[in-house]
Amino acid sequence: MLKIIFLIIVLFIFITVYTFKRKIDGVLDSIFPQRNEAKHNNSDSLEELVKCANCGVYVPKSAAVKKIRLKGDDLYFCSKKCKDEYQKSK
Ligand SMILES: [Zn+2]
Repeated sequence: MLKIIFLIIVLFIFITVYTFKRKIDGVLDSIFPQRNEAKHNNSDSLEELVKCANCGVYVPKSAAVKKIRLKGDDLYFCSKKCKDEYQKSK
């Protein structure tokens, strides 16, 4: 009889730890969304986003307007208009 109670307790602890770990994972994912990005880094479906140097909008790298180099930094633009405006302002 004591053996059965012991087994039940061990099982209960296992389930508790398992659900607790899942909860922690969920909380961490909501606090640090980059954890998910790191998990999906190997898949090609997630395209890198680049920030428009003029208006600050994020666009997929492939959709971004041709970059220009400024002091070694690559600059991307959401549209040709933004690129022209940025270059005019410099
Ligand atoms: Zn822009």
